[in-house]
Amino acid sequence: MILVYAENTLGKFKKSTFEIVSYACAVATKLNDSVTVLSIGDVSQDELSKLGKYGASKIIFSDHATLKSFNVQPYATVIAEAAKAEGAELVILSASFSGKGLAPRVAVKLEAGLADNAVDLPVTDGGFSVRKGAFSGKAFAVVEILSAVKVISVMPNSYKVVENPQSPPVTKFEPQVPEKDFAVIIKETVRATDKVSLPDAEIVISAGRGMKGPEHWGMIEELANILGAATACSKPVSDAGWRPHSEHVGQTGIAISPNLYVAIGISGAIQHLAGVSSSKVIVVINKDPEAPFFKSADYGIVGDAFEVLPKLVEAAKAFTAGQN
Ligand SMILES: Cc1cc2nc3c(=O)[nH]c(=O)nc-3n(C[C@H](O)[C@H](O)[C@H](O)COP(=O)(O)OP(=O)(O)OC[C@H]3O[C@@H](n4cnc5c(N)ncnc54)[C@H](O)[C@@H]3O)c2cc1C
Repeated sequence: MILVYAENTLGKFKKSTFEIVSYACAVATKLNDSVTVLSIGDVSQDELSKLGKYGASKIIFSDHATLKSFNVQPYATVIAEAAKAEGAELVILSASFSGKGLAPRVAVKLEAGLADNAVDLPVTDGGFSVRKGAFSGKAFAVVEILSAVKVISVMPNSYKVVENPQSPPVTKFEPQVPEKDFAVIIKETVRATDKVSLPDAEIVISAGRGMKGPEHWGMIEELANILGAATACSKPVSDAGWRPHSEHVGQTGIAISPNLYVAIGISGAIQHLAGVSSSKVIVVINKDPEAPFFKSADYGIVGDAFEVLPKLVEAAKAFTAGQN
């Protein structure tokens, strides 16, 4: 049996959750196995039933009041207990912020081998190996998991959402969570923004020091709004306070893998690339034709951002108007 941890934000499942349910169903088909999906926290029955759309054969949920807010220790315990109760041989999580904290803890509790940041389905003929991102996205590694129970965390945006409607039973799961897991309690969570979340975004519009100052970010935000994209920035930009640190991508910031990454006025230093190079398509706009970022770009525009951006905004407006 395969257990999937279904992460939610404010009671709504994230796209990366549907990706890993789809991923788990593809693995289950290979292994002739079934998929149980576990939700933790305050999620409505309507929302839970959405998991069946992507092929879950059983849904379990833990909604105890102490589990209302994400808390890594008790959540890891609930996932491990669910894996034991369901007899799971494989546990799949998203390699999201929370998933990165949960996956190793769950693996320790289950004495399981862990492959984090998986980017492909496992190869299961005569073993169990997984291709994963390594060295901050600069390389791939193929890891073989030898333990009986296995844990995989899957990079967001690396597997497509596939519909496979089922009508799974939905049951409550109430494990004992030891008091010591609550050494830290989340009193309140305040969202910094209502914008598209950066790690989950399919399109990211990112800008660097080439934008000269925070007063010029209106164009970046406008383009992002039109395309339904998240905004990101290079480290010096957030260090200077032009943009919040939550937008800083790279080796010391967030690592992302959107379908489209547009880098405007960013040089392409290795520390920046470390966090964005697993994007599917990279578009670079830079006035310096020698900017290192062009070597990693799928498409490049050599030009002044202050001339190119207004034209891009107009083109994006015309494109989206044509779609409606
Ligand atoms: C340990 C360590 C960790 C680091 N971690 C990170 C990290 O996580 N993320 C990160 O981003 N950086 C990180 N850095 C910093 C990194 O090395 C670079 O200094 C940084 O990425 C450069 O930011 P930038 O490209 O915005 O600025 P710059 O290097 O100043 O580049 C600006 C670019 O804008 C172009 N430009 C200028 N004007 C225009 C215009 N009008 N139109 C178009 N283009 C224009 C220029 O040609 C240039 O290529 C780290 C550094 C260290 C040492």
